[in-house]
Amino acid sequence: MSRATSIAPFAALALVSSLLLALACGGDDRPNLLLITVDTLRADALACYGGKADVGVHICSIAEGGSRFEWAFSTAPSTAPSVASILTSRYPLEHGVTQNARSFLPGEHETLAEVLHEAGYQTAAFVSNPVIDHSKRLGQGFDHWDQVMNQHELNRPGYVERHAIDTTNAVLTWLRRQASAPWFVWVHFQDPHGPYAARGAPTGRNRLDAITLPILGNNSGRGGIPAYQAMPNVTSLAIYKHRYLSEIRLVDRQVGRLLREIDEIGGRPGVLLTADHGEAFGEDGYYFAHGHSVGFDLIRVPLLWRPPPGAEPGPPVVRTSVSGIDVAPTFLQAARVRTPETFGGRALQAIHTGESTPRSIFAEGSRRAAVIQGRRYFSRERVTGAKLREDGKPWGDENADLPSRTALLDSEAGLPQYTVVGADPPQELEAALRDHLSGAIRQAGGRHTELPRQLAERLRELGYATQE
Ligand SMILES: [Zn+2]
Repeated sequence: MSRATSIAPFAALALVSSLLLALACGGDDRPNLLLITVDTLRADALACYGGKADVGVHICSIAEGGSRFEWAFSTAPSTAPSVASILTSRYPLEHGVTQNARSFLPGEHETLAEVLHEAGYQTAAFVSNPVIDHSKRLGQGFDHWDQVMNQHELNRPGYVERHAIDTTNAVLTWLRRQASAPWFVWVHFQDPHGPYAARGAPTGRNRLDAITLPILGNNSGRGGIPAYQAMPNVTSLAIYKHRYLSEIRLVDRQVGRLLREIDEIGGRPGVLLTADHGEAFGEDGYYFAHGHSVGFDLIRVPLLWRPPPGAEPGPPVVRTSVSGIDVAPTFLQAARVRTPETFGGRALQAIHTGESTPRSIFAEGSRRAAVIQGRRYFSRERVTGAKLREDGKPWGDENADLPSRTALLDSEAGLPQYTVVGADPPQELEAALRDHLSGAIRQAGGRHTELPRQLAERLRELGYATQE
């Protein structure tokens, strides 16, 4: 919903009650809130999810005094749809941002920032990936929107992004000079997204024993290195993996600095960190790519929540499956602001206290969709047997040709193993997925949102038609 439109009744009530509370207390005691999203961050790259001990030290420490969610899933394997779900608590087919290049968030959707703004919060966003710039209209409800991007991508100079150090500087400068409590800040770090170009990362020589990959003429990642990811003279899978981890270490240091300096400024916030999607490192034959499936390599993301001071900390590890749509209700509960009925997610506070009833959660890609119920996972083509895309063209390498498959979530065994299912999919999971896909399309009214043609063409030129 656009800020120019009327205030929803509950938001007005929340505003009045919060003002009364502030008057009664002689001040506003509602907590500051910090949402950190890291682009292209696989959960299992982090130490606290089974990765190397020195990767994600500061990120993992967010769960000290809070909770780490073992099984968290993005709603999509690409940036804009997933981020729009975090902000609206709805799935992509419901909120309309179904892809990076051609869709934007319609104004009628209520966003987390709008609800907090109406409740008296000062709201600010600092983004560093151009696919979540103004064109996506994700800034609804933010008083301050910072998308200053100053770094040109290695192989696509027309594509600009922002380094984590500069992103952190921008946030801290704003907090010191302009912020007034209570505030809600969203920070999106871009760096683990390819090309993996962190300063000081391993370079150059391939190891003799390494798996080497061809450099592709496109950005699909199917069977080789996407053109935009190619580093000079590097074709070794191991070197690319090392470089990806270097990017995560870089962001991790900035997350540590951000949290430390915010504490120095004062007004220690409630903090939630998650990712928009993961990245393939050989799963299903794809490398250094995302968007092509709804496999665990792409939709399993980290999720760490540290409640604001004074709130119940929750258990250190929660194994109930959670979704990107749960982020917004979690912040609203922490802010003691009523959650709009349109929000489909659940507050994590209710999930970790066991007050939540079982449910299905979903992930949607261009070609495939997944459902998770408890420990069970099932994915299939959105339109089973569809050999053509909606526009009548055949599916390209950017969308993997995969069988329907199931898996069991098991924390002890690394990423879950798939079992291919034939003509008889598991009935409960299939029914839930079918209902979700048909219901979500109905809710969206079959409307297709289009970006201005010029902008869509620009994004396509940059290789962003189906990726990222
Ligand atoms: Zn992304």
